[in-house]
Amino acid sequence: MRDELGRDRGRLSRRTFLRYSAVGTGVAVGATASIAPASAAPSRPDWSALGTRQGSVVTPADGSRFAEATAIFNTRYDSTVPVAVVRPRTTAEVARAMAVASRRRLSVSARSGGHSYIGASAADGALILDLRSLSTPIAYDDSTQTVTVTPATTLFALQTFLHRSGRALPVGTCPTVGIGGLTLGGGIGVDTREHGLTCDRLVAATLVLPGGRIVSVSENRHRDLLWALRGGGGGAVGVVTSMTLRTHGAADRDLVLLGFPGDATAEVIRGWASWLPTLDISNWAGVNVESDRGGGVRCGALIAAPAGGGSEVARQLAAAVGVAPDFTAAATLDPDGVLLRLAGGTPNPPRHGFAAGSDVVPTIDAETAEAIVAVVRSRSAAGAAGSVIIDPLDGAVRSVGSSASAFPWRRHLAVLQWFVDIDPSGSYGSADSWIADAHDAVRRASAGAYINYVEPGGTPGRYLGANLSRLVAMRDAYDPTRLVRSSTEGATASPGA
Ligand SMILES: Cc1cc2nc3c(=O)[nH]c(=O)nc-3n(C[C@H](O)[C@H](O)[C@H](O)COP(=O)(O)OP(=O)(O)OC[C@H]3O[C@@H](n4cnc5c(N)ncnc54)[C@H](O)[C@@H]3O)c2cc1C
Repeated sequence: MRDELGRDRGRLSRRTFLRYSAVGTGVAVGATASIAPASAAPSRPDWSALGTRQGSVVTPADGSRFAEATAIFNTRYDSTVPVAVVRPRTTAEVARAMAVASRRRLSVSARSGGHSYIGASAADGALILDLRSLSTPIAYDDSTQTVTVTPATTLFALQTFLHRSGRALPVGTCPTVGIGGLTLGGGIGVDTREHGLTCDRLVAATLVLPGGRIVSVSENRHRDLLWALRGGGGGAVGVVTSMTLRTHGAADRDLVLLGFPGDATAEVIRGWASWLPTLDISNWAGVNVESDRGGGVRCGALIAAPAGGGSEVARQLAAAVGVAPDFTAAATLDPDGVLLRLAGGTPNPPRHGFAAGSDVVPTIDAETAEAIVAVVRSRSAAGAAGSVIIDPLDGAVRSVGSSASAFPWRRHLAVLQWFVDIDPSGSYGSADSWIADAHDAVRRASAGAYINYVEPGGTPGRYLGANLSRLVAMRDAYDPTRLVRSSTEGATASPGA
């Protein structure tokens, strides 16, 4: 297939191709208030117990080095003030830091790729364990077709490594997201329908429990912990220092981008939702709707299909929605190329500010489709940016039971991601309130939300559904004082919010 995807730039905004982004502050999974706040820490603490290696501990006293050490992907959280950022090189150093934090009654927050939507991996008052210095190289085991990685390994590094062995993993679409946070919260992307969530591929992990005990988790050992690591969210039960995941064979994909007339958007969403369950799971298709800032909306569909099959899936989708696309572009790409293309062509997308949230829906009927369009249109009428990215949750996701892992959304059609890029003149407050309006608009259809798209004020039950009580019971058993912050406990939003 000829590579025509560059043509989308003028016709559909760049965001239509950048599939995901982020937001705000959160609520703990079964949180208790037993951890001392940052202000209770000594003003000039002695951090030597955490390591004396140059650069291994960075504190607010380190000025610009501290600002660099706290910076994560979402610039909304650039002003957060953790107690310190520690950079362990080994699992033993992680365990030592956890033990020190426990003695000092400091809460710990792990950082893998630093893409938390709510600044959880740079949270105010926490001791941040930045795992990017863990030094174990990526290792592929051909006999088990598994790959073992440190959690801070980026999706792009992992994908390019696996590609050399003709293997791949179902991952998300941002090259700099860490495999750690992605897997611990679920992990959705264009291979999800065929190969499942990233967390479904997790077969073993090394986990440091609060207090510093190191355990090996697998399907035969500490199975309960493996259950929690598969989609319960980062920090739910300790800090992971190594993950082993089952790979699948790498294959080239056709990516096809279709543009539809904006005034037919409700028909497109409704037709897509009825057609998707009939689509063979080797194919993937999602819909994006975005504000044109002038009262209208733009509508696009993205298809990923086995090489050679993209045009036929595009034809089927157009027939199912009953609307002729007014724009089509396509390319055939290898797995690295797919990841790069979905990120806008770069392995290092720049940090930026954004607000986002989500709803998980079991179905989308005509009323919900109309409600989705109306809420994006209202944002457009206000002259503001905003979009919804509608991604499938069916296919192989359903091959796992709803309570077989902590990820609860196994009988649902799609995730709706509400999402606003904040430019320097933009307002987080207005974006947050639009996202609240969007939740209201689809409340009748919503079952909950996706924990990797965590947002300010979201209650834990919204992300974990019927699996919440089991996860809280596990935290009570393994982390009764809530030493480790969960991924739903975020940072304080920027003053501009
Ligand atoms: C630009 C962008 C694109 C995205 N695209 C997708 C996508 O395509 N599909 C998708 O499913 N999601 C996507 N996401 C969401 C992403 O999966 C989550 O934000 C994820 O949690 C990020 O993981 P991280 O390791 O990069 O982030 P971090 O901020 O490092 O971690 C996220 C959370 O997990 C905790 N954590 C991290 N590492 C560990 C560990 N080793 N042990 C215990 N807890 C840990 C952190 O404390 C934090 O609470 C995207 C996010 C962004 C910003």
